[in-house]
Amino acid sequence: MYQAFLIKYGEIGVKGKNRHIFEDTLVSQIRNALKPVDGEFLVRKENGRVYVEAGADYDYTETVEALKKVFGVVGICPVVLLEDDGFEKLSQDAVRYFGEAFTDAEREGTFKVVARRARKNYPMDSMQISAALGERLLEAYPTLKVDVHNPQIVLHVEIRNQINLYSKTIPGPGGMPVGTAGRGMLLLSGGIDSPVAGYCIAKRGVRLDAVYFHAPPYTSERAMEKVVDLAKIVARYAGPIQLHVVNFTDIQLYIYDRCPHDQLTIIMRRYMMKIAEHFARENGDLGLITGESIGQVASQTMQSLAVTNEVCTMPVYRPLIGFDKQEIVDIALKIGTYETSILPFEDCCTIFVAKHPVTKPNLKSILKSETHLMEKIEDYLKEAVETAQTIRVEAR
Ligand code: ATP
Ligand code: MG
Repeated sequence: MYQAFLIKYGEIGVKGKNRHIFEDTLVSQIRNALKPVDGEFLVRKENGRVYVEAGADYDYTETVEALKKVFGVVGICPVVLLEDDGFEKLSQDAVRYFGEAFTDAEREGTFKVVARRARKNYPMDSMQISAALGERLLEAYPTLKVDVHNPQIVLHVEIRNQINLYSKTIPGPGGMPVGTAGRGMLLLSGGIDSPVAGYCIAKRGVRLDAVYFHAPPYTSERAMEKVVDLAKIVARYAGPIQLHVVNFTDIQLYIYDRCPHDQLTIIMRRYMMKIAEHFARENGDLGLITGESIGQVASQTMQSLAVTNEVCTMPVYRPLIGFDKQEIVDIALKIGTYETSILPFEDCCTIFVAKHPVTKPNLKSILKSETHLMEKIEDYLKEAVETAQTIRVEAR
């Protein structure tokens, strides 16, 4: 029934000189999102709007699902495109549209028609079109009532080269188009939190790279596949992700051998940050992104976060910092990562974890413990970086 979609996007942050960057990026992100969808699509800007025109035989549901994942899209309006064959034909089409687009119950509600002429050579003006079409709809559906102030249905009729009819808005994800806000390096584990953290930052327009630390043979191939699967789901929203897979085993064993076990997680976390920064610099990322939330576990108290942060020279973005677990789970369910995150594969952090990790680590004492690593740690770090695998992860 619909031949096009009118894409509504937020006005905030797109004023002035940046507007065309925002719009052009939005157009290219929409094109990317529609690539795997059945059908042919023409995405274009027109008078401060973005249109998606669909060729014959496209898959409506898949198209809407794809558009719902494009950050920057606030609303998706399915549009009926009509040739201009006179007002009589237009009113028949509007009546037919009301018959197909709405249920009997919806047609017992209130409505109004809002007509607009983008070309002024149409023989009626906007007011006349609205009034005459409203009348025809009332004749066809006597249960409808007009309410010009607060109608349940607004039928938009826009007279352009073709005539556009639309009345429904499907909510989009909001945010800013990916690519309008630089790049960031996500520390992606197999847990619930970090994929959500990546989603939240990508939503603000940031392109993602990612790094995953594993500890073979203590962690399995399946644990890594799970992380790749999570990256594929995040990529549905964020676009392709460069995932660096780092072998962390030697570093972990070395820390395990030489440092107090209650400090393991913190020290490990500090080396993860260092390595993540290495790849971040290489990729031109402007910050690190983690799924940390204050107080969630021992390594995420304010004291632990301060000690972890101390090794970082880049900003660390922690979008979930004030979220409760349930709030994070709700987002994970919404974006589709939850089911994968809860699959039971070992994480490198949990393998060597102490029974009673420090919850209030002291930086001096951590630095002192790290002096025990002086002999080989630089070699291990170098080795970890050099042997890392990079996988280009596309949406699935
Ligand atoms: P998540 O659900 O994201 O795994 P978590 O509650 O398990 O979080 P931690 O294990 O303490 O929390 O990890 C905190 C953050 O550190 C994670 O959100 C992630 O950003 C990063 N991180 C932890 N383990 C890894 C790993 N193996 N590879 C990459 N990043 C990791
Ligand atoms: Mg984890």
